[in-house]
Amino acid sequence: MTGTTSLADSPAARAAAASRAQYKQEDYLQSLSDLSEEELREQMRVTLALEKEAMKEWMDSGDCYIISQAGKVHVPTCQSMGRFVNRDAAWGLNLRYPDRLLDGPDEDPIPVWPILRTRAQIESLAKRTACPLCALDLAFLDKPERAITWTYLRARSLNSQHFGTDFKLADGTPLGALTKITTEETIDGLTFSATFSQAEAPITEPDTELMYRTGMRALGNAAQKS
Ligand SMILES: [Zn+2]
Repeated sequence: MTGTTSLADSPAARAAAASRAQYKQEDYLQSLSDLSEEELREQMRVTLALEKEAMKEWMDSGDCYIISQAGKVHVPTCQSMGRFVNRDAAWGLNLRYPDRLLDGPDEDPIPVWPILRTRAQIESLAKRTACPLCALDLAFLDKPERAITWTYLRARSLNSQHFGTDFKLADGTPLGALTKITTEETIDGLTFSATFSQAEAPITEPDTELMYRTGMRALGNAAQKS
């Protein structure tokens, strides 16, 4: 997961996202170039205030987790997430040196907005790794079925032994049982196709990552699985 601008869906969150989005627009930045340093700061404080409201709303909901760019799941109080959660800190450098906004060393001078997720969203991830620093207990988030262990493989590795096995995409989307595999040699090379009982269309990309259930693991090991 790579997005860095996701916000919860609420009026405050949408206002904050809209304010952030402005800075991506060439003509908006152009309109800022005539402003004094103090006026630029004022402009950023407007965005900052919206972000703080959205962040507070999200924290107040009590159902809040962060996925870092490295894909680890954090609690919002994690020390390593402070520079994203604390919006004053996130905007600190730009507020001290407003020119960075228009002519700074960073390709994108707008501070990163963290990937905010609810417990339900974390639960729906097929693969989850807890941050070692805040040591979020992912077992706490585990539903009983999370004790299932999965085997991951690329579609190209499917063979006749897998017929009848229920597969999911790596993101958890169910495909149903594998019913047919074809590889055809054509003038353009090999064409691949794997058909599943519940999938609308066959999988034709051999690199597609799939998973199937292979057993159960002890719940006590849940947080350590990577
Ligand atoms: Zn953490």
